[in-house]
Amino acid sequence: MKGIRLLIVGSEVTNGFTLDKNTNFFARELYKNGFTVLESRIIRDNVSSILNALSDYSLTGDFIIMSGGLGPTDDDLAVDVLAEFTGSRAVIHEASEHRVRDFFAKRASHTRTSAGFSLDRALRQARIVEGCEVLHNPVGLAPAMFFPSIPLVSLPGFPREIEGIWPQVLQAIEQSMAEKTETTEVSLWAISESGLSASMQVPSELEFGVHALPFGTRLFLRASNNDRSILHSFGQSILDRFPGHTAENPLLEFIEYLKKTGRTMTTAESCTGGLGAKLLTDIPGVSAVYPGSIVAYANSVKENLLGVSAATLDTFGAVSHQTAKEMARGALSVTGGQISISITGIAGPDGGSDEKPVGTVYIGIADSREEHAMAGKFFFPFGRDIFRNASIHTAFLALYQKYVYYNGNLDSWLHSDFGKNFTFQE
Ligand code: ATP
Ligand code: MG
Repeated sequence: MKGIRLLIVGSEVTNGFTLDKNTNFFARELYKNGFTVLESRIIRDNVSSILNALSDYSLTGDFIIMSGGLGPTDDDLAVDVLAEFTGSRAVIHEASEHRVRDFFAKRASHTRTSAGFSLDRALRQARIVEGCEVLHNPVGLAPAMFFPSIPLVSLPGFPREIEGIWPQVLQAIEQSMAEKTETTEVSLWAISESGLSASMQVPSELEFGVHALPFGTRLFLRASNNDRSILHSFGQSILDRFPGHTAENPLLEFIEYLKKTGRTMTTAESCTGGLGAKLLTDIPGVSAVYPGSIVAYANSVKENLLGVSAATLDTFGAVSHQTAKEMARGALSVTGGQISISITGIAGPDGGSDEKPVGTVYIGIADSREEHAMAGKFFFPFGRDIFRNASIHTAFLALYQKYVYYNGNLDSWLHSDFGKNFTFQE
């Protein structure tokens, strides 16, 4: 079987200064697209190391993806090494030369610092190996190169640049490799791998791999004999078995709903400490639907800022159905948002009790149009980090299900597997 071999070039990685993200990106994307990665090697920015690895790899006839070493500095060796390896020479790629010159001319007109800048050095990035196919780099200046006869693509090291060039890399691979295995990907939010296997039998003809989602499981399915019908029928049975859990990204779908309906959302967060606000502000353009959040960690802030009543805090405690509902309502009035989620729980390791052990969390939802607020109780005793991620993604999943999947049909949602967790009263 012909597969793909990865060559990660970079002394910053072998010295431990940079964590290799490129192998992970390549492997994930390639699996998803039906290709198989056979090996990944991480090597230094060193001519003989790169040449040795290229010789080994090229004997196999597998497709080679190389990252790193296309930049302007002296340790960026990819162009020279590939010229030597292919018996060709390094030349200037004119279109890239124009881009480099334009970029630095523009930069010079906007900034006065030019200390240490050398145009000659910058122009090293416009070099390619004569005879290669150039792949355009929409993010950075150095073009990527494709050598169909090896076959090999040479990419920059920066993950962002690799992502920009990636569609062209896939085309190059498809052009070079006959074999491609149909692969289906299904996201299962709030369903663990064991939850999946407890309720479904995976047919023996299917190979499946899982990645963890921030909360849940992402499944990758392949049919061993490339039989599409088994793949599609099993994929469909998962969608049927877990209604409302299989959106690719529930939060993004909810944000789309807000944009379409002209509504806004907010969060009132205790134990997630603003993680919800962080994830929301990671989304470009979210300001149209998101005025801001309140992080209310101490009871005094829950009381003074969110208006949670002292009686509620005294009687039921900060981690309770009642407090979650009052926090959610408070966030609406403080921020002017129209739909809110609130999160209050015990992340641990201390602070648990028999009645409310570490891992207990209440998630509230309030809506300025609806008279009521509701809350649900969950239990994620998995350490602070997973606890926080599980809590916030559960809250986002609740919004997605309530407003998008069940489309405002509250009764159906509250009777669904997941919606049953939410009630108006305890
Ligand atoms: P540059 O123009 O920056 O020199 P380049 O094509 O020469 O680009 P490298 O010098 O190898 O690429 O890497 C540039 C930067 O990209 C590194 O400093 C590092 O921050 C990041 N990088 C490189 N390789 C990896 C990797 N395998 N995983 C994650 N980040 C990486
Ligand atoms: Mg470099």
